[in-house]
Amino acid sequence: MSSDHKRREPGGEAGSSSNQQQVQQPAVAQLSRYESQKRRDWNTFGQYLKNQRPPVAMSQCNYTHVLDFLRYLDQFGKTKVHMQGCVFFGHPDPAGPCTCPLKQAWGSLDALIGRLRAAYEENGGALETNPFASGAIRVYLREVRDSQAKARGIPYKKKKKKRINNPLKAREETTSTTFQLPSS
Ligand SMILES: [Zn+2]
Repeated sequence: MSSDHKRREPGGEAGSSSNQQQVQQPAVAQLSRYESQKRRDWNTFGQYLKNQRPPVAMSQCNYTHVLDFLRYLDQFGKTKVHMQGCVFFGHPDPAGPCTCPLKQAWGSLDALIGRLRAAYEENGGALETNPFASGAIRVYLREVRDSQAKARGIPYKKKKKKRINNPLKAREETTSTTFQLPSS
């Protein structure tokens, strides 16, 4: 009978959390953003090798593992890369959603490889065997850059300043996306 409507609130009011958090920086080693990112990348890659079956030792690692790693990372990507059949293919500013996959942006992969290449040598790897410096990686990154530039309608050009001298907007067929291959 004595069922009163008393509700117990399990300590709901602990509202004394101040917004002021004291950030204490460890005086031991103050790593730059680049350095800490590089260390994280290195650990991630090491973990990736360990998770392979059978696990791959860093000394056995070659460029194929690196390429697999880069493709593996695409599932965590946040950059929409339109496929050939998508109506937004080649449009830098899509007007609506589509079902094209998210991938790692070329710039992210390029920077990642740079950090891992440095980390490899800092961790005792030889310059000659550095898998991140492999020509195959360069080729792969170049292909990613080219395909993403087309798919997203964003040319990745830093240096060349082209005069915008194209009044013909009615017909924009950019079949000639040029980039230079180093003569090897
Ligand atoms: Zn799309």
